[in-house]
Amino acid sequence: MPTELLNKVKTRSKPRPQKFQVLLEKLNQRAALSPTEEDFLWEVYLYARDAHRGQRRQSGESYFEHPYQTALILADLHMDPITIAGGFLHDVIEDTNVNFADIAEKFGDDVAQLVEGVTKISGITFRNRQEEQADNFRKMLLSVATDIRVLIIKLADRLHNMQTLSSLPPIKQRRIAIETRDVYAPLAHRLGMFKLKSEMEDLVLKALDPDAYQFLEKKISEKRSEREKYIRVFTQPIEKALAEQSVKAQIFGRPKNFYSIYKKMKIRNKPFEEIYDLLAIRIIVDNKENCYAVLGIVHDLFIPVMDRFKDYIANHKVNFYQSIHTTVFGPSGRMVEIQIRTTEMNDIAEEGIAAHWRYKEGRDKPDDVDKYVKWLRDLIEVLQTESSGAKDFMDTLKIDLFKDEIFVFTPMGDLIRLPKGATPVDFAYEVHTEIGARCIGAKVDGKMVPLNSEIRSGQTIEIITSETHRPSYAWLKFVTTSKAIGAIKRYLRKTQFEESITLGKEILEKENQRNKTLRFLKTVQDSFEDMGFSELDKLYAAVGSGVLTVPQIYAKLFPQKQEELAKRDIDELFIETARKSIKGIKVQGISNLMVSFAKCCNPIPGDEILGFVSRGRGVIVHRNDCTNIPSLLEENERLLDVEWDIEGTQAFLVKLKIMAQERKKFLKDVTDIMANTDTNIISIDGDVDESIIHLTLVIQVENLRHLNKIFLKLQNVQGIISVERK
Ligand code: MN
Repeated sequence: MPTELLNKVKTRSKPRPQKFQVLLEKLNQRAALSPTEEDFLWEVYLYARDAHRGQRRQSGESYFEHPYQTALILADLHMDPITIAGGFLHDVIEDTNVNFADIAEKFGDDVAQLVEGVTKISGITFRNRQEEQADNFRKMLLSVATDIRVLIIKLADRLHNMQTLSSLPPIKQRRIAIETRDVYAPLAHRLGMFKLKSEMEDLVLKALDPDAYQFLEKKISEKRSEREKYIRVFTQPIEKALAEQSVKAQIFGRPKNFYSIYKKMKIRNKPFEEIYDLLAIRIIVDNKENCYAVLGIVHDLFIPVMDRFKDYIANHKVNFYQSIHTTVFGPSGRMVEIQIRTTEMNDIAEEGIAAHWRYKEGRDKPDDVDKYVKWLRDLIEVLQTESSGAKDFMDTLKIDLFKDEIFVFTPMGDLIRLPKGATPVDFAYEVHTEIGARCIGAKVDGKMVPLNSEIRSGQTIEIITSETHRPSYAWLKFVTTSKAIGAIKRYLRKTQFEESITLGKEILEKENQRNKTLRFLKTVQDSFEDMGFSELDKLYAAVGSGVLTVPQIYAKLFPQKQEELAKRDIDELFIETARKSIKGIKVQGISNLMVSFAKCCNPIPGDEILGFVSRGRGVIVHRNDCTNIPSLLEENERLLDVEWDIEGTQAFLVKLKIMAQERKKFLKDVTDIMANTDTNIISIDGDVDESIIHLTLVIQVENLRHLNKIFLKLQNVQGIISVERK
């Protein structure tokens, strides 16, 4: 036999260690692993052991013990081999020189992504102890972990850390216990993983209040035999009746977790006995019908407490928890709580999302997956609405679940929730309106970024402010939160009047420069009352906001001058006609600012437009694609978001310049296009120069789409050289 082959046989036949067998036994309990899966896990086992070789935990034991125990906890939850592999490898990226690519190459992308996910959330530390912050922190974990299995691995990791907490220095013990209490145990609870959660909480109690823990431990063991005896007396007749009807069932006295007894004693301020004496029993059967059969038997034997009956089988809880709950008067009048459920329901009740995940496996019918996804969505919804006020609830309605939310830190470690796409300015306003208003720069994880950059979950944002800075119109272009938009708009509205005054003054001064002989400004200042204003500032504001125009002033105060102004060239006339169809221009919701239209690009209604604030002429409106815009930006002109203020559907005038090779019927083809697109021709003018037709066409269009349609058709006309909008 060749050596190579011999080695293979040797490797294969060499017995795998007891440690690995323990893992297999746990996994095989429910459904036997295939030989390929076993081999896969063995490879993972060896890989993790080698990667951590030489590393030791604080307790002195080999580091590999930790990922191994984490994998065992996951095996208890009967997770799939990929998740078990994730558990084995969860610390290798962080603590060894293995990287994502190494894992992906050896064990596939799925495993690598799980390990990367766990590494990512382990890197985010919980720095603030407040209740509300813990809540946000959990939500952030959910938003960062794209695969729910990442959280399940993280919880298993944390459970093992709690189990081995005593080897750490006391201060560290406390910190980890508090974090477990505030973040991970509630997260396990929300994920429905009650068994894991109870164990975590008991360990938290042991770490944070060892005296109370010992007290409970002692009390419970004292009471144990008496309690067990009572349960036997209580369950005997039930067992007998079940046997008679040949219903197979398992009956358990339900263990109570230390922490929940402790909490109830504290909250209700009652002695241990009163809380502990309430007996709880669970009956597990193999199908739903038998749940009701058992219920019938129990109610037959004992008197039920009427208002304590709940059928969560017919109506499951939000998290898909199913069970029948009933409370009856047992022997000697003691109340006994009974839960009746199937094995699957019990798994889901104890393991929550882990069980869901497992039961989802192997039946990939789309409706099951949908149901699962819906459950997750419901879960997140519960997360978001719970423990938050009405205002928050309204916000939640607007934000479409966790995919669209991010969580970022303030430099102090507070968590701020924002919608996806939020910028440092949104963050600043979320922290405080004043910080928003004064923000001039931002650092993300210590690096300066532009104010319009998108921020991401887990980042720390620091806002740089300046006392003299004010909100800017330009921010409205990129802010996403209603809080920021509202505050910026409020500020702009407040200052609009003052700005209108300044602008109006400047406009009139400029006009005065041009008409010094007229004593223009002096005349206006002297006649504000004649013009119908109670004070001069109001006249300025009217000019600044465009309510009162310079031509109107001429008409009223200088009638002779007005005629001169009326003489304008044909182009200006056209543009003016085109613009007659609109009410004006809206500057981000603010109407009536003084506006004028740039001569370089002649925007008409329907064009995408931008506004620039210029001294003297108010807001100048350009087409979005105007070639002058880059230089305007360099000159630090202030950019404004403007839109046409249009009432209903109206037709706009457009002037087209067409160039084409001279040919017969060219004009007919063009006019046919107009007829076929329902376009009115206002004027048509043309000449021929060296066999090239130059045609100027003024047409009436409904909107840009209409115009684009005409453009497309014109471009296909035979002989066409160019079609241009003027
Ligand atoms: Mn770990």
